[in-house]
Amino acid sequence: MALEKLEKKFFGTNGARGITGEDMTPAFALGIAEAFGTMLGKGKTVGIGQDPRTSGPALDAAVRAGLTACGCNVVDFGILPTPALQYLVLHHKLDGGVMITASHNPPEYNGIKIIEADGTEMGDERTIELEQIYIQGKAVVAGWDELGEAIEEPEAYKLYIDAIVSQFPEGIGNGIVVAVDPGNGAACKTTPEILRRLGCTVHTINAEFNGLFPNRLPEPSEEGLANLSALVQATGAAFGVAHDGDADRAIFVDEKGQFMDGNITFALLASYFAEKSAGGEIVTPVSTSGIVEAVGKEFGCSTSYTVVGSIYVARTMRHEIAEGKNVVIGGEGNGGVIYPHHQFCRDGGMSAATMLGLSAVRKTPISELIAALPKFTMYQEKRKTSRAKEIVDHMREFFSDCPVDDRDGIRITKGGAWALIRPSGTEPLVRVYTESRDAEEAKEMLNTILNEIAPYLS
Ligand code: MG
Repeated sequence: MALEKLEKKFFGTNGARGITGEDMTPAFALGIAEAFGTMLGKGKTVGIGQDPRTSGPALDAAVRAGLTACGCNVVDFGILPTPALQYLVLHHKLDGGVMITASHNPPEYNGIKIIEADGTEMGDERTIELEQIYIQGKAVVAGWDELGEAIEEPEAYKLYIDAIVSQFPEGIGNGIVVAVDPGNGAACKTTPEILRRLGCTVHTINAEFNGLFPNRLPEPSEEGLANLSALVQATGAAFGVAHDGDADRAIFVDEKGQFMDGNITFALLASYFAEKSAGGEIVTPVSTSGIVEAVGKEFGCSTSYTVVGSIYVARTMRHEIAEGKNVVIGGEGNGGVIYPHHQFCRDGGMSAATMLGLSAVRKTPISELIAALPKFTMYQEKRKTSRAKEIVDHMREFFSDCPVDDRDGIRITKGGAWALIRPSGTEPLVRVYTESRDAEEAKEMLNTILNEIAPYLS
């Protein structure tokens, strides 16, 4: 009998997502919660959180029903950022967590993310196990005298605020003005408060929960942050910070209101901790700009590369720390940064506080800190193809005289440039990145690759 390789069916790299009422329904949430409750077993306790989407309460009720029906107890934390739920799962020593969020997706979407007892997202193998319980209808509900209980702790998010504030010197924000745009998402009650507690004067827009997201989409795009930029300029803020719907990511504008690229942000945030930790290590996926490695080097830190996806970054960080390495920070170029001395997940509130710390310590406008960074030019392209694997094989052959890293697609180093050719995990397309300090070299490498892969495109 041929062994069938099982793959995730409903869960992507960031949980299960879908359109409310179509593929994301209370019935689905109930089924997933029953499967999770079955996996954990009776008597275990699970924390639940949600972002402010209109479908949150219905999915929350379904998740509570599924877990308690399987004999698990539930602590419902209400609306809070994903990293706040992750912090509380760890802090309260819970056996797991369920976050109801579609992160940066438009308002009609919602999703379910499963959190392990250690506060990290559930990995691939256990997710497949959970899905199989759901798909095969193997969930086991408890008897009438073994059902779980549900309690609510709507104020527990304050412990997450305390945890972040405790990472920085008291009053570090005194005299500094910051503008915050939580985008009517989960950070409304957290990021403005974190920055105020650190001593800042905080100005906000879109700071009331609203599941319709009437003012901007949950994805903090440059276009969507125009009002934040205006607020920064009107108030003389040192910077502006915005979040996606569940606030695991933070996107910034500088004191001039200019939108900051995620790689540049990561390099700046990394420099704050690298400066305190010479000889340490930065962990990031192979798709991240070389600016992070270059900035780390300035402070005597090395950079270690992983497969693309925050969960792989987080797990690599834990592994390296267990091996005795001094990991100072991890993250991606999309605004998701992980602080190992705080917790092992992306944390937008912690990023906001770190940018404040940097601003306070350097006493230099953010735009000048950016201007002082080494300059890199990166190109990012994607092409439709059903032959992505052949493309990777061909490019490995084509660049056979260059150093290659093939942990996720292939990353080639040639002269002062690098390139990443990476098949998408979910769509029939291949992504091509090239980067160099010399813009022409990066462009030339891009053209070479696009030329070589042209026969394989569909
Ligand atoms: Mg998110």
